[in-house]
Amino acid sequence: MSEWTQLIRDVPDFPRPGIVFKDIMPVLGKASAFAAAIEDMARPWRELPIDAVLAIEARGFLLGAPLARALEVGLVPLRKPGKLPGILLEQRYALEYGTDALVAQAGALAPGKRVLLVDDVLATGGTLLAARALAQRLGAQIAGASVLMELTSLNGRARWTDAAPLHAALVA
Ligand code: AMP
Repeated sequence: MSEWTQLIRDVPDFPRPGIVFKDIMPVLGKASAFAAAIEDMARPWRELPIDAVLAIEARGFLLGAPLARALEVGLVPLRKPGKLPGILLEQRYALEYGTDALVAQAGALAPGKRVLLVDDVLATGGTLLAARALAQRLGAQIAGASVLMELTSLNGRARWTDAAPLHAALVA
């Protein structure tokens, strides 16, 4: 197993009791681990036609930006509400308690662009599904999704139901 996977730290009861938070910051803090993790995320997509990375705020930005550079494509951020100017598209989604939303600028992508969705952790899959719906509303074709880590116990993958691949660099 790659060295970087050993650096992900389990933080029990954060941000709420009962949640085991996967802290990826030690991976980013070590140059060789960061490079290896990004390479593991990039490898499955190198031979596929991708036009842009769509990175999910906030930790998805930290992985999506170097991944976009590795794949030599541009990056479009999918942001939390209140951060972007201009004409916006908003996609709301359910959380365990309440709702959240992802927002993109209308016209951020030319229609038909093939996009790769990027986030740090796949848990229940709600965030990734909202990102996919927003990308479709932007007129994108979904090339796939790439996460650093998939938590299989929460079975988010079962909700993906898309012909496009969902790749996790680490499955735990
Ligand atoms: P979900 O929508 O349930 O798949 O949750 C995925 C989003 O929540 C990602 O953007 C993650 O950053 C964050 N997340 C959910 N569960 C965890 C966890 N156990 N550790 C770290 N981040 C998590």
